[in-house]
Amino acid sequence: MAAKKKKKVDTTDAAEFKARRKGDPVKDAGVEVAEATDWLQFRYSEIEGRGAFARKAIPSGTKVIEYLGRRISKEESAQLCEDFNEYIFDLNSDFDLDGNVDWNPARLINHSCEPNCEAEQDDESIWIVATRDIRKGAEVTFNYGYSLENYRDYPCKCGNGSCVGYIVAAEYHDLVRRENNLPAKPKRKKV
Ligand SMILES: [Zn+2]
Repeated sequence: MAAKKKKKVDTTDAAEFKARRKGDPVKDAGVEVAEATDWLQFRYSEIEGRGAFARKAIPSGTKVIEYLGRRISKEESAQLCEDFNEYIFDLNSDFDLDGNVDWNPARLINHSCEPNCEAEQDDESIWIVATRDIRKGAEVTFNYGYSLENYRDYPCKCGNGSCVGYIVAAEYHDLVRRENNLPAKPKRKKV
C-alpha cells in the first residue's frame, strides 16, 4: 500500500502559512544537499524550489531513492505537524518518520497530480518507487497522499493537464474536481 505523508492538522490562515514556508530553512539552504544520487539529480524545478530529475532512464518498478529521516514518537510528530513540517510519514502505530533533515535529499521531490513514482512502505522504510518508465531528464514526482483537511492551503503547481489544483491523494481527485467545478479528468495520452 502506498505510504502517505502527514500534514498539519490545525486551521491557520493561508497568508501566515505561506510566510512560514518562505522562511523554511531547509528549502532555502541549498548547499548541504547531495547534488545527485544513483538515479537522481537535484536542481531547480518549474513546479517548486528544487526538484529531482532522472539522471538516466529509470525503468518502472525501480526503487529510486529511500526517503530517509528520523524516527519520532507520535507525540513529537503531532507537534512538528503543528509547526508546518510537511515531511512526516506514518510508519506504524508507535512511530513516524521525519524527513526534514539535510541527509534526506528525497524531501526535495515534488508532488504531482500525475506522478511517475509513488511512496511505498517496505517494513519500516519508505521508498520512492517508479510506477512507470521515466525518461532521462524528466522530473521525478510522487503524490504526497494528503488528506482533504484544509486542502485549499496546499495549492498544486504540477502543471499537468489533469492537475486538480491542490495537493491531495489521488483517491480524492474526483471529489476535489467536483467541489471546484473543474472538468472531469482528460483522457490520458498514450506515451
Ligand atoms: Zn497538480
